[in-house]
Amino acid sequence: MEKSFMTKLARLGEKAPKSISTPKAIPIYMSSSFSFNDVDELEKVYGKEENGYVYSRMGNPGQDALKEIMTSIDEGEEAQVFSSGMGAITMSILAHVKSGDHIIADEVLYGGSFQFLKEELRNFNIEVSFINMLKDNIEEYFKPNTKVVYMETISNPLMEVIDIRVISEACKKHNVKLIVDNTFATPIICQPLKLGADVVVYSATKYLCGHSDVIAGIAVSSKETMEQISHTAAIYGTTMSPFDSWILIRSLRTLELRIKQHSQNALKLAEYLQGHEKIKKVYYPGLSSSSSFSLAKNMFNNNLFGGMLSVDFKGGEKAVCDIIKALESIKFVPSLAGVSTTLSYPVRTSHRALTDDELIKSGISKGLLRISTGLENIDDIIAEFDRALKQV
Ligand SMILES: *Cc1c(COP(=O)(O)O)cnc(C)c1O
Repeated sequence: MEKSFMTKLARLGEKAPKSISTPKAIPIYMSSSFSFNDVDELEKVYGKEENGYVYSRMGNPGQDALKEIMTSIDEGEEAQVFSSGMGAITMSILAHVKSGDHIIADEVLYGGSFQFLKEELRNFNIEVSFINMLKDNIEEYFKPNTKVVYMETISNPLMEVIDIRVISEACKKHNVKLIVDNTFATPIICQPLKLGADVVVYSATKYLCGHSDVIAGIAVSSKETMEQISHTAAIYGTTMSPFDSWILIRSLRTLELRIKQHSQNALKLAEYLQGHEKIKKVYYPGLSSSSSFSLAKNMFNNNLFGGMLSVDFKGGEKAVCDIIKALESIKFVPSLAGVSTTLSYPVRTSHRALTDDELIKSGISKGLLRISTGLENIDDIIAEFDRALKQV
């Protein structure tokens, strides 16, 4: 019997045409769910006897392709992908703690992570000790109920580097998991798992994507730990969309090329700004004058130090506002890691949740401008700063 329009429209075109050749690029699997021929098939997939997908909150072919790349370049065993960097961070932490537990965290963190640890976890009756990991002896802060230590490879916005090997040794001694936010460095510059970290987390929104068009997060760890994190993530529903997975796979193809160019440009810009009369201090781990230089040189791969730097203006807040106005093609954007150079004002953007006291304690001045160095020709970037600095 000839089927009606409605039935044809609802049922046809669900299967990709058979082909012995495979697409050169992985397709976007925009499918929320997957069909089975019978209940036995479904049971085999749930029982892990057969590979298969059930529902895209728990897994999707595009996500798995992305996980394969990230697992390999971070030298972990398994990865998970999330709808945002905050998704990766919150799920990786929550998977390891319960009510009554204790966390040790660095006091200089991405604003959202700081807020989560300081305010949100209070609702779960989880205590967090914020310490200065550069100066304090972490040994003194472990408690019998400490479950997680949390830090960033390159701190924002002062670009300070903490020795992951030292912190991870202390964590191992106390049987505590070390989670490292490696967003600013990427695996091209630093591989925290190789230095002893248990979980590495990313805001993939930044360099892993690198083109300012996706909000996403990724975590990499051992098989066992990732299973725990993925279980938590599937319940909370912080899943990455199939389209974002596809964009990220495409972005990762050029990650090393981009990180090299970002880093080379940032070093040259830092060297130029360091000598300028209107600038008090330049924060960049690749400058030999930086307090982080020798550690960064020793811990980072390929003599690369990343694309992020911060500049403290002698003229304070007014100078920052003036330079933002004077820089015409370098835009003021409260994010980072895109192909073009951008500016951020930490006191008003990423760190606006901090009180004046917390800002002073963290060493974040009102004259601090953060620069995300792009992929442009460095001579053009420096020429633009040179022109704008005359107006400050
Ligand atoms: C942006 C950022 C985050 C948060 O990531 P989202 O993708 O915005 O959720 C976390 N950590 C660092 C270091 C970041 O720069």
